[in-house]
Amino acid sequence: MSTIKDFNFSGKKALIRVDFNVPLEGNGMVSDNTRIEAAAPTIHEVLRQGGSCVLMSHLGRPKSNEAEYSLKHIVPEVSKVLGVPVAFVSDCIGPEVEHAVKELQPGSVLLLENLRYYPEETQGDRAFAGQLAQWGDIYINDAFGTAHRAHASTTIVADFFPKNKCFGLLLASEIENVNKVLRDGKAPITAIIGGAKVSSKITIIKNILDTVDHLIIGGGMAFTFVKALGGSIGESLVEDDKQQLALEILAEAKQKGVLVHLPIDSCITQEFSNESPTKMAPTDAIPETWMGLDAGPKTQALFAEVIQQSETILFNGPVGVFELPTFAKGTVAICEAIARATQRGAFSLVGGGDSVSSVKQFHFEQKVSYVSTGGGAMLEMLEGKTLPGIAAILND
Ligand code: AMP
Repeated sequence: MSTIKDFNFSGKKALIRVDFNVPLEGNGMVSDNTRIEAAAPTIHEVLRQGGSCVLMSHLGRPKSNEAEYSLKHIVPEVSKVLGVPVAFVSDCIGPEVEHAVKELQPGSVLLLENLRYYPEETQGDRAFAGQLAQWGDIYINDAFGTAHRAHASTTIVADFFPKNKCFGLLLASEIENVNKVLRDGKAPITAIIGGAKVSSKITIIKNILDTVDHLIIGGGMAFTFVKALGGSIGESLVEDDKQQLALEILAEAKQKGVLVHLPIDSCITQEFSNESPTKMAPTDAIPETWMGLDAGPKTQALFAEVIQQSETILFNGPVGVFELPTFAKGTVAICEAIARATQRGAFSLVGGGDSVSSVKQFHFEQKVSYVSTGGGAMLEMLEGKTLPGIAAILND
């Protein structure tokens, strides 16, 4: 796997695809600079070696070139995070960029305007990618958040850099960390798959059944399994058309020697509201007008025990409606169990959408081994797909 460690950037221009798709406040200020910070190590390394950086990114989903999506808003923040001045050019192709790139001195950083001002970017247009390719001697992809898209700047552009392309440090570490679970995970390996729907997690579950020893199924999606097994789940979330699939998964897991753990008790309520009165009930005996919105204490203990025995842990999807404090206890208990296991030496990966938000919200970020930065991209990796942005670097 070719990373920036394999190149000498001295006197070279690095064309770096970063993911600066950061949230902006109404006044154009960056409200969360995590993604900029995540790209900083790669940029610093190029600069340290005496190279220069041409940064390209998208921001939001502009329909044309609306000013609110201009990357010029984030220039002060990028400069602050990197600790160096950042020049900006109000286009990403054309003569203005050509001039700015030509003038770029070793040790400097240039940020191009939003790539998605051109529809050719998301169309994966070859001619557009060829124009972008003029801006660097070496292409670096460090945008994990868009690595699952075959866009011009994430995938197609790499064709113009045979032998002169590599992964940035962030993208390389995302790949390494997912491989620590899927490829080289130390047994026992446990996956905690939660969240709302079976349908959105089915491909992941199928893919990891060959890898894991334990599969914990929590959250809303667990009720489809419990109902399929003959349980009464009241008004809990269910996908009736996925019951057969749930049974097939359980059968496949059994055949592959994977132990599946479903919730045994649930915190139930009659209204989807934080203030609505609650009580505990067995997950397979929920009264008619009630719904399960969180894992109960017995389930928390059961899941924690499995996690405690594990050497490798994947956490994908909350086990309750963690956004409402009343129903966050189960997810917090999972985070605590993962933190304890990590402390005694287990490897833990938190990846894909809402489990990442829950870990951040409850301040467990520093207590797990790795928190993925890419929602959709991580989900596709866990589904076993080869991401186009990764394949483009690997193919020479
Ligand atoms: P996903 O994006 O599929 O990972 O689903 C995450 C969402 O699942 C979160 O917004 C949770 O509130 C929701 N969720 C978790 N458990 C339940 C549940 N028991 N009932 C309804 N929604 C749930």
